[in-house]
Amino acid sequence: MMSRRSGDLAVLGGPPVCRATWPIWPAAGPETLTVVTEILESGRWGVSGAWTGRRTKDSEFAERFAAFLGTNYCVPVDHGSSALLAALTALGVRPGDEVIVPGLTWVACASVVVRAGARPVLADIDAETLCVDAKAVEAAISPRTAAILAVHAYSTMADVDKLAAIAGRAGVPLVEDVAQAIGARWRDAAAGTFGTLATFSFQQNKVLTCGEGGAVVTADPQLHSVLERLRGDGRRYLPERRRIVGQTDLASTGGLQGWNMHLSELQAALLLDGLQRLPAENARRDHAAHLLDDALGSLNGYRLVRPYAATTQRSYFQYIVRIEPEAFAGRPIGVVSTAVSAELGCWVRPLGPPLNAHPLCQPHLHPLAAIEGLRGRLAMHRFELPVATHEAGRGMILAQPLLLAPAEQVHQIVEALEKVRRQADRLPCDDDDLRTPSLVSLRVPEGRL
Ligand SMILES: *Cc1c(COP(=O)(O)O)cnc(C)c1O
Repeated sequence: MMSRRSGDLAVLGGPPVCRATWPIWPAAGPETLTVVTEILESGRWGVSGAWTGRRTKDSEFAERFAAFLGTNYCVPVDHGSSALLAALTALGVRPGDEVIVPGLTWVACASVVVRAGARPVLADIDAETLCVDAKAVEAAISPRTAAILAVHAYSTMADVDKLAAIAGRAGVPLVEDVAQAIGARWRDAAAGTFGTLATFSFQQNKVLTCGEGGAVVTADPQLHSVLERLRGDGRRYLPERRRIVGQTDLASTGGLQGWNMHLSELQAALLLDGLQRLPAENARRDHAAHLLDDALGSLNGYRLVRPYAATTQRSYFQYIVRIEPEAFAGRPIGVVSTAVSAELGCWVRPLGPPLNAHPLCQPHLHPLAAIEGLRGRLAMHRFELPVATHEAGRGMILAQPLLLAPAEQVHQIVEALEKVRRQADRLPCDDDDLRTPSLVSLRVPEGRL
């Protein structure tokens, strides 16, 4: 058996740097129970219910969220993935088309392209920001390109100036995926106001959440009308003067093939409640991220993500730390992140593979691949992503609860990172030789529900 010494790494049986619990996420606020109860008693739990004489939370949230971003319209939907699919569909993306997608991002960014019947074309990323590289996007443009998907990934923003210019020259729309950057700003304008359309996810881990949810925003009234009908089986809200209590307030407008992507009223109420708290929570995460930036900037073996200069406000959905493998005796990122996770008792994991090597990104297994000649062109491994591959092997994600902790505890993150680097040569060389630590330290805030 291994001998256990007091300075040993927690993952090897030593005492962890942090024994305290971390804030839980998502967390209810002081008014959450009240707003949920209000819906439970309202007689309308979904948009498809009857008009009660009271505005739906769905439309109230749409208005508030558009105002929060400084755009005209918001259409809430049931998932971020639905938001992406609705956005591509509204823009007329169709079979035979290509959509340019960053090579390092969540798999939904590519899988929705296939669901729209089109082909994802992967573009490599920029090594400093981890967002899509504008030059790679430009090189990927073809006569079949129908849209460019810019993802504001890993708490930085993509270069929306360059990407909008490239999209303009190519005559194709730019779609922003803002799932990971809610509240971020580029020259003081909100992420989500640069593309023809922008999509959001309100899934459990995002900084604004109702468990599962999403939204598409736009400044364009025509696209708004299309999106509203797409998400409502072709229906949209009647003007208020035409609503009758007890009758549906949705008009069967049609004119396109929609499907049901409505958010429930319970979810919309949670989003309205969360939106009120978002600025203060973003400020808290921002503060913790600055503490980490300051401390890690001078720490041996670690490298930070550097946003583009025009980013005037970041939104920290997660915090990304990169390692110099030489400073870790060549140990793989999976081993290093498991060791850090065990020191902190909180979730720390590798960035995950790029989309040309991701087990969850398999467009060639979609029914579309049955079409003559398409299977090979749907294979993601045909794309070369040297930068994404290099960075994915070095980056780890610190989960959001770490950024909501008090300053003393944030300093323990630095301590944990330092400890793991110092003793990296004692770690095994393979992830399989390490037990995944059980992370039992999430704490439900007191005095809430
Ligand atoms: C979370 C996320 C999505 C998908 O959102 P879901 O609500 O899980 O469908 C899409 N894109 C990015 C960048 C995300 O982080």
